[in-house]
This record gives sequence, C-alpha cells and structure tokens, in this order.
Amino acid sequence: MNPQSDHRRQVTVIGAGIVGISCALNLLRDGHDVTVVDRVPPGGGCSRGNAGLFSSDSFVPLSLPGTLRKVPGWLLDPLGPLAIRWRHAPRLLPWLIRFVLAGRPDRVKAICDALEPLLDSSLEHHLALAKGTEAEGLIRSEGCMYVYEDAKSLADEAKSWDLRQARGTIVEKLNAAQIREREPALAPIFEHGYYVSNVGHTVEPMLLVKGLAKYFAQSGGVILQREVRYIEIGPEGPSRLITDGDDLDIDVLVIAAGAFSNRLTAGLGSPVPLEGERGYHVTIANAGIPLNMPVFANTYKFIATPMAPGIRIAGTAEFGGLDAEPNFARADVLATHAKWMFPDIDTSDVTTWSGLRPTLPDSLPVIGPSPVFGNLFFAFGHQHVGLTGGPRTGKLIADLVAGRAPNMDIRPFRADRF
Ligand SMILES: Cc1cc2nc3c(=O)[nH]c(=O)nc-3n(C[C@H](O)[C@H](O)[C@H](O)COP(=O)(O)OP(=O)(O)OC[C@H]3O[C@@H](n4cnc5c(N)ncnc54)[C@H](O)[C@@H]3O)c2cc1C
Repeated sequence: MNPQSDHRRQVTVIGAGIVGISCALNLLRDGHDVTVVDRVPPGGGCSRGNAGLFSSDSFVPLSLPGTLRKVPGWLLDPLGPLAIRWRHAPRLLPWLIRFVLAGRPDRVKAICDALEPLLDSSLEHHLALAKGTEAEGLIRSEGCMYVYEDAKSLADEAKSWDLRQARGTIVEKLNAAQIREREPALAPIFEHGYYVSNVGHTVEPMLLVKGLAKYFAQSGGVILQREVRYIEIGPEGPSRLITDGDDLDIDVLVIAAGAFSNRLTAGLGSPVPLEGERGYHVTIANAGIPLNMPVFANTYKFIATPMAPGIRIAGTAEFGGLDAEPNFARADVLATHAKWMFPDIDTSDVTTWSGLRPTLPDSLPVIGPSPVFGNLFFAFGHQHVGLTGGPRTGKLIADLVAGRAPNMDIRPFRADRF
C-alpha cells in the first residue's frame, strides 16, 4: 500500500460485494483511508452464489431482438428461464419498455462498444487483484463451452456470436463428438457448441470476495457490519451515514450497494431504474461425474460450473421487486435441468441459494461521479457480469477519486443517462 500518498482521502464504500471490495482494494492501494460498510459480511450479497465466470465475452446486451421474441414462450414455461411476479408487473412496465428499446440495432452496437472494454481481460484483472491474497488460489483458466441441441437453436444465437467475434472474441466451433470429448458426462443431445478460451472462473465466488476482503483488512482497511439507513447531506455533499449502529462521518463516498443502490442514490439526486433480477443456484456435492470447465446450456439458459463445493447449476431471471421472497421451486427446476444435462449426475446432496442481480434496462452499469455532488461516486448495476467487471470497475473508481483520467470511455455508464 502507499501510505505516503499526497492526495490521501478518507473514502467510505457502501457494499462489500465483488464490486465494493474491488473499489476498496484499489483505493487502499492508492494510499487512501478506506472503510467498507455492509449489513452482511463480505461476499454475502449477490456476489455470494453466482456462477463464478469471468466472462469477458458477455458484452452483448440482454435485450437482443432474437431474445425478446422468445420471452412470451419462456414466461409460459414453468421450466423456462424467465419469470415475472405479476404483482410487480405495473412497476416493472417502464423498465421493460426501456429494456425493449435497448434492443434496437444502433443501441446494441453502442452497448457492446461500451461494455466490451469493461469486461475485457477479466481473468487477468482478477489475477492481478488477487495476487498475494487467499483469493489467488481460487482462480481457474480452463475457458468455457456453450452447447446447443440443434442447428436452429445455434442459428437463433448467430447475431450474438457475430457481435462477439466482431469485437475480437476468439471462438472454436465444436461438433457433437468434440463436445463429448471435452465433457464426457454431458448428455448426447448437444449437436453444436462453441469453446471460448479467454474465460476464467472461480471455484468459490464468496470465498474469492472474502479472501480479498481479508487482505484489505490486514492491509489497513476497515470493514464495518452496519446497515446504512439514510445519508445526510452537508454543504459539500454527503456528510454522514445514519446506520443501525454508530453513525459515520464521511469525506468521499462510493455507493456499491448492488441491487439496493437506488434506495441510496435516489435520495442523493440520482434516481436510476435499477431492478433486482433474481437468480438461483443449486450446488451439487458428490455429483459423481467429471466436469472440466463451465458449460452454458442454451436451451434453458443456465451454466454448470465445476466448483470446490460441487457442481453449481446457476441461472434463471425472476422479476419480483427487491422485497419479494425467493421462490425456491425455481432452484428445484435447476436440479431437474442438471439431470437433463448430465444423465448420470447424483443430485441427492444439494444446497440452494438465491440472489438479486443489479440490472438496469440497457444492460450497462452505473460507474462514475455523481452528477450532483463532487464527493460522491457510483459503482453498481453490473447485471449478469458483476464478477467479470468488478476488478476493472474498482480501478476506474480509484482513478476518478484520484483525479486521474480513466483509460476507457465511461460516459455510457453515467447515472443521468436515463
Ligand atoms: C445466479 C447468478 C449467476 C451469476 N453468474 C455470474 C457469473 O458467472 N459471472 C459474473 O460476472 N456475474 C454473475 N452474476 C452476477 C453477479 O453475481 C453480480 O453482478 C455481482 O455479484 C454484483 O456485485 P455487487 O458487488 O454489485 O453486488 P452485491 O454482491 O449484491 O453487493 C452489494 C452489497 O451491498 C450491501 N448493501 C446494500 N444496501 C446496503 C445498505 N443500505 N447498507 C449496507 N449494506 C448494503 C449488500 O448487503 C451487499 O453485500 C450472477 C448472478 C446470479 C444471481
């Protein structure tokens, strides 16, 4: 760390997920006094149970026209990857309209252009961030495979693959035999596939964040377990956090509160249309089958990842608002999918989890300075790619706090774009 910094500030980060901890570590390395505040221990939010991929190729927006056409069918299918709690539908409607508009060809291109540099070289950014921490040993670099049952489902995704390859993603096309050769435990139903080599993964996302947080604390950072209830504003901007414990005076504030960020930013003059997009996982211990790398099954839009505690099947998108209880029947669906994908898998020893992805309708995060206050910065809204983009986001926030020009265009991520 660099305690001699001339520009040492007292920086408070709300949120100890992968994004907040990445910000905190980068800020500490710049020589600032950094405090992280979270109502749960580090890595206890959405960063806890994700699929673990550092998927640098996932810069294509969620709202591609081909995807939108499938939405009605998915909503009607109880095993489908998408669900809306109908009580939440009226509040979701404006978000959905923006989501659909983000699928226009000119917007798709702009979104890919904006997101690609944020996600690029994620594996390398993770390795650099984790160097010398307990997180380092949790990182793998086996690449990732996408599998399709037939030529039609492959063709449906052609646009997405064209966009990826046009921006430099190197993919290897696979036939049925090549798929089985790489992953012998897969059901013999997948005729087509792609292998992407520049994808890494972690074998335990929660421990990855905890390892980084432990190093942060050992290096002089402070982590407080408090819920932030309200943010007081002084003459210069946010000045005090009102929490469920002692209140905290603040100098510089970074909001990295994941899906709950709008509850804090709205009162600071920056409301954003942020939804909590609920996902689920089942982790299958003692699965009794080999799995060498993460495999994305296009039919039901989920990922199977080899992890330390077992094979994790993660996916589904459910919109029900921030306060709706999880519906763990959707996790049971993922266990059913596991059997479909791996006929010989033993699913007798499973644990389930659910978490809220922070998702904005244009698939882009909010990263940058507040348009209202000079001592306030935002780092949230990373939808399906927060683990992938977390380390780079942390660097960007450290640059902004230090007054350095970021080495990528962050204007598409500004909070007042809506
Ligand atoms: C099923 C599933 C699979 C996924 N797979 C992948 C994947 O393979 N790769 C990938 O890149 N991404 C993946 N994601 C997305 C990724 O998990 C998220 O984008 C990422 O975890 C967001 O990180 P975050 O730090 O912004 O939010 P979080 O991890 O949710 O952290 C935010 C923190 O803020 C705290 N907080 C909120 N409000 C307050 C408050 N008022 N006071 C105090 N603390 C507060 C919360 O307690 C929480 O700990 C997946 C998500 C899901 C659900």
